[in-house]
Amino acid sequence: MLFADEEFDHETVTFGRDEKRGLNAIVAIHNRSRGPAIGGCRMMAYPDETSALTDVLRLSRGMTYKCAIADIPFGGGKAVIIGDPSTQKTRDLLHAMGDFVEQLGGRYITSFDSGTSLEDIRVISERTDHVGGIQPGSGNVSSSTAYGVFVCMQEAVRLRLGAESLDGLVIAIQGAGNVGSRLAKLVAKDGGHIVVAHIDESQARKVASETGGDYAQNNRILETDSDVFAPCALGGILTEETAWNLSSPVSCGGANNQLSEDAVADALKQRDIFYCPDYLVNAGGIIDLHYQLNEPSRDPLGRHLDSLGQTLRECYEYTKTHARSMVQATNRVAESRIQ
Ligand code: NAD
Repeated sequence: MLFADEEFDHETVTFGRDEKRGLNAIVAIHNRSRGPAIGGCRMMAYPDETSALTDVLRLSRGMTYKCAIADIPFGGGKAVIIGDPSTQKTRDLLHAMGDFVEQLGGRYITSFDSGTSLEDIRVISERTDHVGGIQPGSGNVSSSTAYGVFVCMQEAVRLRLGAESLDGLVIAIQGAGNVGSRLAKLVAKDGGHIVVAHIDESQARKVASETGGDYAQNNRILETDSDVFAPCALGGILTEETAWNLSSPVSCGGANNQLSEDAVADALKQRDIFYCPDYLVNAGGIIDLHYQLNEPSRDPLGRHLDSLGQTLRECYEYTKTHARSMVQATNRVAESRIQ
């Protein structure tokens, strides 16, 4: 069996092929009970179509949960283009993708993801209006993502450590890219001491010096003595093994799919590590997209991002009576908002 039943509860899966323009793509729409499906367009050299299908089904389902927990009027969708973005991405292919999205009649709204850039989405938008992330004056959504992570971190240290702010706490950040470097500045402004690691040590040094913090070797960041671990690089960083090596009582970061499997949440709980579920913590970017698409004034954006902290607290309260871990609690809260 390819998929567990509960993972295969999608509304539609559509294949888009255009041999002439080199497009081989799939769009999965998981659930539209809250509104049109939204989710990035990933381009990757998948080994075969089954891997691409598995990815798009999993990612679109994740988007339904993310939109629900973020409380925005969108459902979950995702697109994948099968192909190597460094060699196979052409203007023609992106136009074919735009035509494919347009054929879906607004049921799916696309944006950028791994292997596609804002510039690519601009090219796609020459063929369809159903795109997000390129609205004039919108800036980089990573700022909103980082702010959402920061708000959740403040709430997490309140709940787990009884701390009123990050003042005097040590925050270990893995990955100083778009999200991690912005998060570092917010944390430092709140009085937190940064320890940052990056695959390229010069980038870690730069962010450390800008924030008055320190840098650590990339392979030592999990064991760094800290109050909060903030994974802001790759997914799958928290495994059964790393969960036992983690020295921080709180884990709260922007990376997607941080747990190698859901069972790792139980290992973290056993060690009394307060794990903040990634799709809640990093929902700031999708909330920003909602305001770009639906509320050009953007006035309520800050308040909406602040509400992520309250949602985290709500999920925490839920664990006291109804759930065995923060992951399970967050899933249940999200499901209560999906029909
Ligand atoms: P990014 O590529 O700008 O930054 C990540 C950085 O981490 C890269 O520079 C990379 O070189 C570095 N890196 C990779 N492996 C590493 C390792 N093992 N240790 C240390 N550094 C490593 O990406 P980003 O936009 O900052 O996103 C970071 C994470 O947050 C990703 O998982 C992304 O999917 C997720 N996310 C981002 C947004 C957003 O708005 N950018 C929104 C939601 C989720």
